[in-house]
Amino acid sequence: MEGPYVQVVGALERYRHSNAPIAFLDRDGVINLGRPGYVNTASQMQLLDGAASSIARLKQAGYAVCVVTNQSAISRGLWGPKRLIELHQALQTQLSEHDPHAVIDLFITCPHRYEDRCSCRKPSPAMLLLGHRLIREEMELETSWEPVQIPVSFPSVAWWSEKPPAPHVLDAMVGDRRSDMGAGWGYGARLFRVPRTLGLATVIDRIIQEEDEGDAFQP
Ligand SMILES: [Mg+2]
Ligand SMILES: [Zn+2]
Repeated sequence: MEGPYVQVVGALERYRHSNAPIAFLDRDGVINLGRPGYVNTASQMQLLDGAASSIARLKQAGYAVCVVTNQSAISRGLWGPKRLIELHQALQTQLSEHDPHAVIDLFITCPHRYEDRCSCRKPSPAMLLLGHRLIREEMELETSWEPVQIPVSFPSVAWWSEKPPAPHVLDAMVGDRRSDMGAGWGYGARLFRVPRTLGLATVIDRIIQEEDEGDAFQP
């Protein structure tokens, strides 16, 4: 089974002892336009309005930016993990063209289907917890677009209890689906749900507001 694919593309060392918060972003419907039947090629990668300037604002506010995305096209055999290089390079290139500060630090991708019963597919918070470890703990991974599969175990989440505290009080999860909110809840993040055709730009002012505790969510 194995875990999610990780692409460390930013210089994570700078966050190690910085106490920087992390913005966890779902990809399709948050940064770029989702498509029925997956975004399968670089030419299908289309930024949502304001996504680049929003990511730039997160970076300027000191956030590490970590994409956490379910892409079951891989498990379905539509394409292989190498395609993540083209797709995510296309995404980063477009972001940089709009705003040179709009730099994603880390991509984490679950390649599985629901039926695969993996540990990483959202609403599991496993990809967020892995992002936290990669950014904040001594977990050395080469900076590379090459996807590396990292095994993870299913985190125990007390879904019937209170939302757990996040490792950093400002950590945030942005998504367009209930499964994104579930993953963010299990991690303890501030939750921001967006309309899938408008994405990140609709909540960026709120995320930057440190007093905003995010959306209420009942798992
Ligand atoms: Mg989405
Ligand atoms: Zn998975």
